[in-house]
Amino acid sequence: MINNPLPAGPAPDAAAIAERLRNLARCRSNPDLEEIASVLGVSSIRVDPTLDRLGHTTWTTAGPEIALQANQKATRQRFTLAHELAHIYLGHGRDGAHPHGQPYRDARPEERLADAIAGHLLVPSAEIRRLRDLTPNIADIREAAVRLGVSQAVVVRQLADADSTHHWLLINLKRTDRGGWHFWRVTGRIRGLSDKMRVADTEHPLLDKVPERDVPLQILTQIGDLTVQLQGTGNRRTNLTLMLVDHVRPQREPRRPLASER
Ligand SMILES: [Zn+2]
Repeated sequence: MINNPLPAGPAPDAAAIAERLRNLARCRSNPDLEEIASVLGVSSIRVDPTLDRLGHTTWTTAGPEIALQANQKATRQRFTLAHELAHIYLGHGRDGAHPHGQPYRDARPEERLADAIAGHLLVPSAEIRRLRDLTPNIADIREAAVRLGVSQAVVVRQLADADSTHHWLLINLKRTDRGGWHFWRVTGRIRGLSDKMRVADTEHPLLDKVPERDVPLQILTQIGDLTVQLQGTGNRRTNLTLMLVDHVRPQREPRRPLASER
């Protein structure tokens, strides 16, 4: 059991903490999370069908017990387990003041830190450097995600955090009940733009014709006041379309309201 792994002084960053966790596993490039859990003194990891959040750690006299929500994808559970291991390594909640009283993904700094550590732990920096130098397409992202046992969104998020010189944007579109498409999840960011993409529905008819294999895709969307055309590659599996953006072309300037409209 590692009780107080952090030295006094400034808090180490997420990447440094992830490296320490990685060093607890025999295979550093694709660490066995259960092995790390065992070194950290975790007494059990179970899948719980009644859990109302993605993951939860209970500190007991026998050691931390981890519960993972049932019916999640393997990649999601792996990320959640890495997130819980980060909490355990940092002792979050050990003294009863618990970070886990509320559902996952609220804005607390411990949650953001645990997410950041999990990302670094599951996607090694060498992998990020390799992908960045490759200027990857969506097939490269998918290959890395499968090999590392994470979602494509986790790979793109790590790329976006590590490299501000490219666009790193992955868009998941889900079919709506009305037959249109909804921007379900947008990961990463567009170089030079800090405005959030407006999450919207689109009637884009071309999206209906996207095949399962990777094809060039482009869609128009609104970012802040700007209308942009996003170009990249994407594919469609059942009712979900995934697109990795590699070019962003601003469209004409937004029309200013006329005085009579103000
Ligand atoms: Zn958490």
